[in-house]
Amino acid sequence: MKSLVKALCFLCVLCGASFCLSLDREAFSITNYDLNLQIEPEQHRLGARGKITLRNDTTTSQKVAVLQISSSLDWRAIRAGEKMLQFVTQPYTSDIDHTGSLSEAIITLPQEIVPHGTIDLDVAYEGVILLDATRLTRIGTPEDAAKNSDWDRIDENFTGLRGAGYVAWYPISTEVANFSEEDNLFEVLGRWKMREAESTMKMHLIVPTDYPSVPQIILGGMNCRLTLLEATSQVNQRVTTDCVSERLRLNAPTLVIADYQVLEQPNLEVHYSPSHNAAATNFADAAKLAAPLIAEWFGTARDRTVIADLPHADAAPFESGALLLIPLATSDPKLYGLVAAHQFTHASFLSFRLWIEEGLAHFAQTLYLEQQKGRQAALDYMVMHRSALTMIEPTTTALNSEREALANTIDEHLLRSKAMCVWWMLRDMIGDAALKKAIASYKHEQDTDPTYMPRLIAAQTQRDLSWFFDDWLYHDRGLPDFKVDSAYAARTPTKSFMLTLTLDNLGTAAAEVPIIVKFAGGEITKRVELHAKSKLTFRVETPGAPQEIKVNDGSVPESDLTNNGFKPPEPAK
Ligand SMILES: [Zn+2]
Repeated sequence: MKSLVKALCFLCVLCGASFCLSLDREAFSITNYDLNLQIEPEQHRLGARGKITLRNDTTTSQKVAVLQISSSLDWRAIRAGEKMLQFVTQPYTSDIDHTGSLSEAIITLPQEIVPHGTIDLDVAYEGVILLDATRLTRIGTPEDAAKNSDWDRIDENFTGLRGAGYVAWYPISTEVANFSEEDNLFEVLGRWKMREAESTMKMHLIVPTDYPSVPQIILGGMNCRLTLLEATSQVNQRVTTDCVSERLRLNAPTLVIADYQVLEQPNLEVHYSPSHNAAATNFADAAKLAAPLIAEWFGTARDRTVIADLPHADAAPFESGALLLIPLATSDPKLYGLVAAHQFTHASFLSFRLWIEEGLAHFAQTLYLEQQKGRQAALDYMVMHRSALTMIEPTTTALNSEREALANTIDEHLLRSKAMCVWWMLRDMIGDAALKKAIASYKHEQDTDPTYMPRLIAAQTQRDLSWFFDDWLYHDRGLPDFKVDSAYAARTPTKSFMLTLTLDNLGTAAAEVPIIVKFAGGEITKRVELHAKSKLTFRVETPGAPQEIKVNDGSVPESDLTNNGFKPPEPAK
């Protein structure tokens, strides 16, 4: 015991700061931002002043708070009311910012803040934000790929600042995030976003601009009500915008400033670089086709969908709620409709649960594909996503991990592929009309429990679906694996054929799966509910001799698709 104490003391000396062992960087959430921002694109400069509200989220009183901004910005002042506060600044290595580091202010508060107590701080910080992909290049990402991923910057031609997770251009407070540790960044970022989901933000933006150009200013996830052009002379003019966000939801606030042109449709704005006129028109046309289907499934739009053009050809697209940043000119025009369906869904349907919010937006893409090109195109699209899913699903030895249950996960792959499949399977099981009714009855403000949405769905059907939610939503039981164990056909007195079929689910999750029986002159589909590690024998009557059996049309994710076909022997004469 003595040696442990000694070792701890030694560590304290090594750290050289009394904060070392006691600093809880996630003790405080920031529940409100009220910031005045001056952006000078030519100088790559950002200057911020304003008030933020900190809330103690721990169960003990706190005297020290930590605030972080991007390492290319500097803290200028932190006050509580009239009192200037003492704070120590230090660089803090973390991959939550594109520079791979944060400017951290460790602040001694004027008084202890009790659990759930709040304090308002006046803050000032400034600096430059340049293109910087250090966090990626230092782990070996090739320079070009790194810059196409971390394209954020303040620049004369284009300013794009994604929030926490890319550029900490407003204060945050997080523990270290490390790209080289699997999923670590997403966990830290996910925790931060959950803590900020109910936070409010107000921004007053000032951007000086050359006469006569007036840049477009977009703040994703926020309502920007007023854009004023103030000009003291023809050479000295500036644009001011006021933006308000009632709740940040799970979106990091994103700021875009560029000399865009705008194409408007009901509920849609396409902001594009003037040379990308044709691409913007094509996008708007494709969006027009997708709009009625999305309205039919998810109701009228709550927000306008905003598409903003990324000027750099290979820049990675990025979405934040109803805002999507995408290089319009170099994106495949065949994907415009799919992209629009996704973003319209975000603009129409609101949930703080990612499997619902993201899952439905991906499900909407399959609905759109089905409407445009038929069910098979939608199934093919899901199969494409499934290869990623089988790779990340746990093996049978590592099941029941609550952390990865779809209801709680922040894993993007699971949200993109598994959640999409879950919604499609539900639709196959209860039908379009019932699922639409369940979706329409959802109220995000009443969703205080993970069982809320499942209960709304259950209310629209006579079927017991608890087994499905158990295996697919509340736990990660892995995937099913269907195999035809045996099948034989016999003639019936009425000259049809009776196929007796035994189906095996070798996998670890239950599902309702379609069985397609092909016979001379046609095919019959039967749907069967089969639980994990179990067998079921059933009969299918066909007018012609059964020739081939196929389990699963692609609508159910499976761990092994190579064992899904079966050729029954010739029926006995
Ligand atoms: Zn999305």
